[in-house]
Amino acid sequence: MGFVIEQECPQCGAPLELSERDRILTCPHCDVQSYMFAHGYFRYILPHKAAEKEIIHIPYLRFRGNIFFCTNASVDHRVIDITQAGVNLAGIPISLGFRPQAMKARFARGDTAGRFMKFTLKAADILTKAARLTSYEGSDVLLHRAFIGETMSIFYLPVYIENGKLHDAILKRALAESFVSEEDIDSRIADKTPESVSFIPMLCPECGSDMKGERESVVLLCDNCLKGWDVKNGKFSEIEVIFSAKQSNDTIFIPFWKITAQAKGVDIDTFGDFVRVTNQPFIIDKRRGSRAMSYISPAFKIRPKMFLNLARQFTIMQMADYDPVDIIPSKGIHPVTLPLMEAVQALKIILAASAVMKKNILPLLPQTSFEINEKCLIYLPFKKSRFDMINEETGISINRQSLEFGMTL
Ligand SMILES: [Zn+2]
Ligand SMILES: [Zn+2]
Repeated sequence: MGFVIEQECPQCGAPLELSERDRILTCPHCDVQSYMFAHGYFRYILPHKAAEKEIIHIPYLRFRGNIFFCTNASVDHRVIDITQAGVNLAGIPISLGFRPQAMKARFARGDTAGRFMKFTLKAADILTKAARLTSYEGSDVLLHRAFIGETMSIFYLPVYIENGKLHDAILKRALAESFVSEEDIDSRIADKTPESVSFIPMLCPECGSDMKGERESVVLLCDNCLKGWDVKNGKFSEIEVIFSAKQSNDTIFIPFWKITAQAKGVDIDTFGDFVRVTNQPFIIDKRRGSRAMSYISPAFKIRPKMFLNLARQFTIMQMADYDPVDIIPSKGIHPVTLPLMEAVQALKIILAASAVMKKNILPLLPQTSFEINEKCLIYLPFKKSRFDMINEETGISINRQSLEFGMTL
């Protein structure tokens, strides 16, 4: 279960409840949808009962998602779910645990009362520690890690000072017996309060049509001009979208990111390079071998093991030609819930997972980098069977339960 956020409809003011994973706010009263956008993290405050006090908001990193990591011999993953302090200050709880679940949070806004502490710890360090990856400093060397989040945001714990001691403003009681100085607090205060989240009307920038999206979608489709859009710096930005088959009654279109990139440090420019460097047990002809290498990543949230399997299978398959159709299907489209940025973060992991001889590739990961040439969103057709969704062209299947699980994580 995720945390609940209270927010008024930006259009009609009706009080609504959101999940921390939602990117689209849908108002059942006025039927208007808005895309929510924040610069950096989404930031939430917790309700308190100390309105008469001068409140200080202390940042906690909220992360729920997968950590993928490579040692010199294997590619592994862990699921973590944390809300950990983002500042070093004696006396504050290290973790909020599941406490925010017991109350409804709100977005922090420019006019939220009180002062905000800066988030000063490194998110990657907090996550590495939470996943207990530090123990790999022993015999196995940790060569690479990637964090693919369901949720990555900041929750602020409200506190105040009374008689020189920090007090929890929700429970109205002292957090620690030790005294805290003005200096301890002042040196950690941010210059300004966090920026408010923006609500962007979901009108296609190209043709002005209404775009529809499911609550967790990060990409919106315009079925009038057949374009896809995500949001960068508060503005819609176009994404190339390909539907690779015509719709039939039971087709479900599932989205994948196709990222064409040169891998520096391992010298993979073409599919031929990839087959050779990763020791694939098959032979390809010159024509296929000379094509620029593309990596395929699921564009939806799914359990880490399935994520790796799908990415590996489709990447190794390296389907050359996706038959584009020039109509967006009217139904059966699985939403994009994994942003392109996160798929890019996963490239090294996809490469490592695809390698047959792991020992040849994994030690090269620290010096590997990707130069991205092209990226697009491909919707591949799957057919529903009793337990699986099957892509008939490749025979690759996705367990239905894990796909549905990904939707409700
Ligand atoms: Zn409304
Ligand atoms: Zn349009």
